[in-house]
Amino acid sequence: MNPDKALNFLEEIVAEDVKSGKHGGRVLTRFPPEPNGYLHIGHAKSICLNFGLAKDFDGKTNLRFDDTNPVTEDTEYVNSIKEDIQWLGFNWAQELYTSDYFPKLYEFAVTLIKKGLAYVDDSSAEQIASMKGTPTEPGKNSPFRDRSIEENLDLFSRMKKGEFKDGEKVLRAKVDMASPNMHMRDPLMYRIKHVEHHRTGNEWCIYPMYDFAHGQSDSIEEITHSVCTLEFEVHRPLYDWFIEKLQIFPSHQYEFARLNLNYTVMSKRKLLQLVNDKHVTGWDDPRMPTISALRRRGYTPLSIRNFCDRVGVARRENVIDVGLLEFCVREDLNKIAMRVMVVMDPVKLVITNYPDGQTEILKGENNPELEDKGGERDLPFGKELLIERDDFMENPGKKYFRLGPGLKVRLKHAYIIECESFEKDAAGNITEIRCKYIPESKSGNDTSGINVKGTIHWVSKTHAISCELRLYDRLFRVEDPSTAEGDFKDHLNPDSLHINANAMAEPSLKNAKAGDKYQFIRKGYFCLDKESTSNHLIFNRTVSLKDSWAKAGS
Ligand code: ATP
Ligand code: MG
Repeated sequence: MNPDKALNFLEEIVAEDVKSGKHGGRVLTRFPPEPNGYLHIGHAKSICLNFGLAKDFDGKTNLRFDDTNPVTEDTEYVNSIKEDIQWLGFNWAQELYTSDYFPKLYEFAVTLIKKGLAYVDDSSAEQIASMKGTPTEPGKNSPFRDRSIEENLDLFSRMKKGEFKDGEKVLRAKVDMASPNMHMRDPLMYRIKHVEHHRTGNEWCIYPMYDFAHGQSDSIEEITHSVCTLEFEVHRPLYDWFIEKLQIFPSHQYEFARLNLNYTVMSKRKLLQLVNDKHVTGWDDPRMPTISALRRRGYTPLSIRNFCDRVGVARRENVIDVGLLEFCVREDLNKIAMRVMVVMDPVKLVITNYPDGQTEILKGENNPELEDKGGERDLPFGKELLIERDDFMENPGKKYFRLGPGLKVRLKHAYIIECESFEKDAAGNITEIRCKYIPESKSGNDTSGINVKGTIHWVSKTHAISCELRLYDRLFRVEDPSTAEGDFKDHLNPDSLHINANAMAEPSLKNAKAGDKYQFIRKGYFCLDKESTSNHLIFNRTVSLKDSWAKAGS
């Protein structure tokens, strides 16, 4: 923990509990994902918070898969969740599954029935809903509410044995149909689902509801601080009610505001639709807000942890600008990414006074931010080069410091050149720029005495390797697709992916490995995509170089 930083409200609570010796000063948190999709950046916030609290107070964190809904859950998701948490840099104490507690939870339910605090209801889902009342009107008691304990025990065991069809019966807690809190109006504890579960197979056909599984699982594991998002605040009285009536370990729930990010959606259900309807290529499509997509796009674990840290922990909902996330990755990549030269829109440049067929190997430092500059790489230089088309202007204005007829510019890590002439095709496109170079102006050993304002990047035409660049824009056109009119998918940005197949890279990139991170100088941060092959290099643009968020004034 940073001693200079003020504690957030959860850290304050935990610090107080540790000090007072509550639970013997022990801290055990948990991260409880439902394995029904890949984790997104919102989950990263919850992971950083839960694992962070434990770390700061010498505690531990369990990873518990909240797998109580067999219809939507899958082992693929379990594996991706584990990979993402580890990649973010966290280690769990125990890997646990709510489904492992099914026998225990069944026992708890029987205990409540025996105490007269739970009953089997034959009402249909519609009947139950119609008797629920409204926030201002009390609900009505079910005609099955006063069944005897014996009858309830018998019916519940037959539910478990599979004697009834889906929806024929449910088990409900007997709380208070007039409670002002709708969650306390005899909430469902179990429903019948004749569906195979990804771990328990066909052993069970009754499955516990979230409210009956979550708190009890916390209690079974003796979780001291059960941290969740604010929408569960209204569930807390029920969480406490079950624990109190069962007289089990008193875990306590604390709520914080969920992370919302603009220009994206953050619900696994919606993200699944994007995958299924092929609006994206998969859960790890680099435009997605999932952790696997951010990783593929070139985000680092540190940048995501820093982002979660900067967002902070609050009890009030707000929307975070995606620019802050981009700021955080830029900040990290600036320190670690190797600098290379890649020409995105090449035009040929000929050095007229350079000997035909000659190549010289120049050196380029890999990263000026590092103490040893990250070492050096070879940059072959020759008579024919490629530069960016927009680094040349036929009729440049006074403030233009790049190339134009008669203008001088420095080639990065190489020489100063002066433009003598150029050629155009019938359509008016520049096809060749002709320059002379100044041999005494070599970078690192410049005795020319000439000063130029601009430096541009380049590659040697004979040595450059072609590559594909995938440039991403926001996935949605509107800030909040979920509340915008119509279906959220109506607001997808049709131009969220731009493929540039013409880029030419310096030859050092031949050895790039998947996930390697680079700054293409003057162009942005890029990383090699997993679909890349040695014959066809593919780079994802992680983020542009321009820092619009910081400039916007934060
Ligand atoms: P989704 O609607 O995306 O499926 P969820 O809340 O249903 O989200 P879970 O797998 O149940 O997903 O969530 C695991 C944990 O992550 C929960 O404790 C939940 O509160 C937390 N979490 C989910 N979304 C966010 C978010 N946007 N910000 C912070 N925490 C989140
Ligand atoms: Mg959920």
